[in-house]
Amino acid sequence: MQNYICATCGTQHAASEQPPERCAICEDERQYVGWNGQQWTTLDELRTKHSNEIRADLGLTGIGTRPSFAIGQRALLIPSAEGNVLWDCITVIDDDTVAAVRRLGGLRGIAISHPHYYACMVEWAEAFDATIYLNAADRQWVMRPDDRIEFWSGDAKPLWDGMTLIRTGGHFSGGQVLLWPQGADGRGALFAGDLLMVGQDRRWVSFMYSFPNYIPLPASEVDRVAGAVEPFEFDRIYGAWWERNVMSDGKAVVRRSAERYKLALTGRLGSG
Ligand SMILES: [Zn+2]
Ligand SMILES: [Zn+2]
Repeated sequence: MQNYICATCGTQHAASEQPPERCAICEDERQYVGWNGQQWTTLDELRTKHSNEIRADLGLTGIGTRPSFAIGQRALLIPSAEGNVLWDCITVIDDDTVAAVRRLGGLRGIAISHPHYYACMVEWAEAFDATIYLNAADRQWVMRPDDRIEFWSGDAKPLWDGMTLIRTGGHFSGGQVLLWPQGADGRGALFAGDLLMVGQDRRWVSFMYSFPNYIPLPASEVDRVAGAVEPFEFDRIYGAWWERNVMSDGKAVVRRSAERYKLALTGRLGSG
């Protein structure tokens, strides 16, 4: 039996004798099946070709795979005296990574924005005896169910040390972001995954149903995502890739980005 991993989205599946027939995450219109058809790999195979890079990213420790694998997101370690949290997850986990994260205090929790970054979350949770926090609305996208996953319902879930998970919806119905009040030297940091996608200019965010297939969200959903984070104070927004972060003024960035998006939807953006 093997826990096969989809080579396009990096999601590890429940153990099976043969590779699964399909990856539901990739067949969904928010992702895509690779151009050479559905391909599978395993963690052992990935470890022969990839390793993880652990380095600072805007004051935090980031963990990303080199060379890049699947969607290419990097995870972030949020430090807390009451137990560190891994924000978002990556597929590759190896002995060097586990040792490095242990030196930083290990993990108490793993919180993941949405199914595209579920990756090898169960492997990570086992390695650190950590709990995985996911919103129940995305339960159907968990390809490797496990007792370490704690599903929460509602609009917000407090973790510890002031950290709060906020359900935004939008890109995924159960999409969640994490608010860390101590972030950005006490001005607050929002960990956004791609529920609020940090743009290349790092001064705006965007909102999409599908990024790879360019499918936008309606105004009502954009308002819902922006409205979900509106009650919270934050200055920085950490995006899903290395250094894709909004350095400051994050709250105003979300407000004006939602307004700009709706201008675009109604044909009122730009000079024609
Ligand atoms: Zn996949
Ligand atoms: Zn996504």
